[in-house]
Amino acid sequence: MDSDNKLKKKLSPTEYHVLRQCGTETPFSGALLHEERSGEFKCKACGNKLFESGTKFDSKSGWPSFYDAVPKSVKFKQDSAYGTNRTEVTCSKCGSHLGHVFDDGPNPTGKRYCINSVALDFAEVRK
Ligand SMILES: [Zn+2]
Repeated sequence: MDSDNKLKKKLSPTEYHVLRQCGTETPFSGALLHEERSGEFKCKACGNKLFESGTKFDSKSGWPSFYDAVPKSVKFKQDSAYGTNRTEVTCSKCGSHLGHVFDDGPNPTGKRYCINSVALDFAEVRK
């Protein structure tokens, strides 16, 4: 895994802020918000495969949203910042911050993974 300094050079300031300092990008700003091709969404910091395009849906929240993650690709952490009680989603491989998960998603999981676009890399997979 890359050291934090190496990541700082590899990532843009916004990407670094979101991934390593638990930042949040401006809603509706993400390049992958309307990505509709079939493919895989990977961690920007380490390349870990996190989400499949088949689980992506339009939550109207302004952030790319998924109803499920690739098994074992993410970890969960209770986040009580700002007096809220949210569940933070991090990359299981490098520990980078990705976003949050909520319980108001669609079937079949009922989950809504609300993920920062800048935390993700998209790779198109042709079927
Ligand atoms: Zn990662």
